[in-house]
Amino acid sequence: MEKKNSNTLKVNKGVNQPSVVNPVFEQGLKQYKKQKPDVDTLLRGILQHDRSTLSRAITLIESSLSKDQKVAQALIQKCLPYAGHSLRLGITGVPGVGKSTFIEAFGLYLIKKGKRVAVLAIDPSSTRNKGSILGDKTRMEQLSSQPSAFIRPSASSGTLGGVARKTRETILLCEAAGYDTLFIETVGVGQSETAVAQIVDFFLLLMLSGGGDELQGIKRGIMEMADLVVINKADGDNIKRAQLAKRAYENALHLFPPLENGWTPKVVTASAINHSGLEVIYQNIQTFLKQTQSNGYFNKNRQQQAVTLFEENIRHALIDRFFQHPDMKQLFEDYRQKIAKNKTSPYEAAEELLSIYYQR
Ligand code: GDP
Repeated sequence: MEKKNSNTLKVNKGVNQPSVVNPVFEQGLKQYKKQKPDVDTLLRGILQHDRSTLSRAITLIESSLSKDQKVAQALIQKCLPYAGHSLRLGITGVPGVGKSTFIEAFGLYLIKKGKRVAVLAIDPSSTRNKGSILGDKTRMEQLSSQPSAFIRPSASSGTLGGVARKTRETILLCEAAGYDTLFIETVGVGQSETAVAQIVDFFLLLMLSGGGDELQGIKRGIMEMADLVVINKADGDNIKRAQLAKRAYENALHLFPPLENGWTPKVVTASAINHSGLEVIYQNIQTFLKQTQSNGYFNKNRQQQAVTLFEENIRHALIDRFFQHPDMKQLFEDYRQKIAKNKTSPYEAAEELLSIYYQR
């Protein structure tokens, strides 16, 4: 019996094979990539946990074009009701201490526990000399291949204050996109930590055994901000030294005044490469959360951060408006010169220039 449809695959002579990609679709795709999506489309994508929409939205936040900023601000407003439910972890340490390796190991550990992890970076170096301490390595390959992970390299332009502000907004979008654990990474050389402390719930400081604090470039102020000090690279020959360092840091931390939140900072050893010490770190964070949630500090801290953010936004908006005035840039420069040449005092100069500004 003849089989039905036996000639389905027969290609008639003279008919050219069509191109694999439909040219109309291809054109459409190009246009889709070019066109900027509207707020509701972005919101929908974010709430559906779509990573590429999240990336596009963050690009808008980082854009300095005022029309992008408008969309970004509207989107942030719409995301706010869905935001706030994550644990925001700050992580710092000098280059080479193992931050990427640690975040990858700890991120994978958390994903195994069912968490959704986002990694953001604040990198002040990229604003000054284009080259970035954080950005140019191939980073966290294993973590980035996980469907529950989202990794965003640092915003690469603007002042540190601006980058931190944008990171704060990026946090909100990540939370709306369902990420429940956020790492905010920064290079522990002193400038960006205060900014990060204002946007995180818990601060982890990565250190190495051996080499004094000075050698590691860690300022006392950063030590004081840490909720948990992790002595990394506690493996191989290094284990004993790491234990000694742990004791030394514990003693040093005792000398600091107690933290307002009632938490005593802890010191642990870990090996990011061997994935060891992660459980203890996780338990410490859990204890911190329990303690600060029950004594009210967790919420109080976030409220204080919100107030600081408000103050900063006002300050930045005023400064931006001042410098966006077409005459002010030049006049500001002129006054700077006058002050440098002792032709006027800084007080007088500020008063004069501001009165010129208010009159225009
Ligand atoms: P970052 O600059 O702080 O992000 O540091 P990286 O994560 O890039 O690590 C710097 C170097 O230290 C890399 O060669 C890592 O393989 C190595 N490293 C990171 N963590 C560990 C660890 O726990 N033990 C050892 N022995 N090496 C590590």
